[in-house]
Amino acid sequence: MNSRIHPGASRINLRRTQFPRLHLLLASTIAFSVMGMMALLPSGDVEAKRNEIPMSIDAFEPNSVKPDNSKKDDFSAPFAGKMVETTQTEADAKDQAKKAYDLEQQLGTWHTVTIRSGDNLSSLFKAQKISSNVVHQITNTPEFGAALTHILPGQSLEFRINSQGTLTQLRYTKSRLESIFFSKTAQGYQAELIALSPQVKTAFASSTIESSLFMASQEAGLSENLTMELANIFGWDIDFVQDIRRGDSFKVIYEENYLDSEKLHDGDILAASFTNQGQTYTAIRFTDSKGNTDYYSPDGKSMKKAFLRSPVDFTRISSRFNPNRLHPVFKTRRPHRGVDYAAPMNTPIKAAGDGRIQFIGWQNGFGNVVYIQHPNNIVTVYAHANKLANFKKGQKVRQGQIIAYVGKTGWATGPHLHYEFRVNGEHRNPVTVKLPDAAPIAKSEMVNFSQLSGLMISQLEKQSGTMLATQ
Ligand SMILES: [Zn+2]
Repeated sequence: MNSRIHPGASRINLRRTQFPRLHLLLASTIAFSVMGMMALLPSGDVEAKRNEIPMSIDAFEPNSVKPDNSKKDDFSAPFAGKMVETTQTEADAKDQAKKAYDLEQQLGTWHTVTIRSGDNLSSLFKAQKISSNVVHQITNTPEFGAALTHILPGQSLEFRINSQGTLTQLRYTKSRLESIFFSKTAQGYQAELIALSPQVKTAFASSTIESSLFMASQEAGLSENLTMELANIFGWDIDFVQDIRRGDSFKVIYEENYLDSEKLHDGDILAASFTNQGQTYTAIRFTDSKGNTDYYSPDGKSMKKAFLRSPVDFTRISSRFNPNRLHPVFKTRRPHRGVDYAAPMNTPIKAAGDGRIQFIGWQNGFGNVVYIQHPNNIVTVYAHANKLANFKKGQKVRQGQIIAYVGKTGWATGPHLHYEFRVNGEHRNPVTVKLPDAAPIAKSEMVNFSQLSGLMISQLEKQSGTMLATQ
């Protein structure tokens, strides 16, 4: 995975700089100077870049190179067909060391600055005695110059300034994985993005719940983020507030991203199983040929439902679905054909499922209301909103998109969402209605999925077997 990492790669970026005569010289001295240059690297980081040059350059025979301007743009010629000589005279070596030293002199020395809050580009450059004209030039570097206008605290700038006070190179380190390397040209600057790929490792964790899911996952070494992800994957089948019992257990296969054997952050959960009150649910992460990623049960069903159980984060259910209740405003027997979720004013209301806006606007009684038409003749209704989101009739809406904000418009005594779930025009209890699953794996993807699923399930089983054996 680390195949792109190439020591000294940042130096190799010089190959198209303003110092054309130095190009070949540089190439020839790389073998000698890499060690010395590594010592000069301000960060000491080993960096990689997207377009690596052939490794043969390191072994290139230096004597064949003449600092000849006529060849400055032709890189392939000196390398082509040239046999690599393995012997070097001491004089050659000294000569090369001298050239490398001269080059270092021309490029100047590095000054590293860590960006702090309140810093801006002008002041940082000014502190290095670099004119605002150069700031203008470098921020206008094609492709990457503009990135410098978005510097953030904690990132670093490394200035390379020669004895004439010229900024010859600049490295903007955005993160552990990404930096931009600027080098002076005759016209201005040119830049290259240097991106590192983290090494991805697969990890396994399992635990049995004694008190809470969070305690159990902490013991298993899972981060809070992964625990949340785990709860999200199974949240459609298991209510993690109400349903969790002592003795429930889980197993997780997940990815971790490393750089130089240091862990950067967690990756995705690849597969997991959760046993809740004796029933085991298993989820496999799968990316289909169109690039859509989701979690599926081993038989290819989506882990999600086509509908959210409740389209709002509510504080309590203030009125249940009841075909025969006393209406709070009219004090007469009137059916309550939805469920009322009490929630603070302006709590976002989400579309319960994918569909199209059937109606959005004002209706007597319902106040500000949204109707969404879903597949299979299902309509959901969201009433008494304080504000409506910016949707139009007929527009597509995705599950979880905010369509309105809780209010008490129409016939309502306090802020709440009145939510209805209608199937073929019939009102159903939104709290208990059996929700359809989201779309399963497409038939055309089933062969790929089955292979992955089989592999993951055997991994889950094998890993937990190992765990038992070592206990
Ligand atoms: Zn209601």
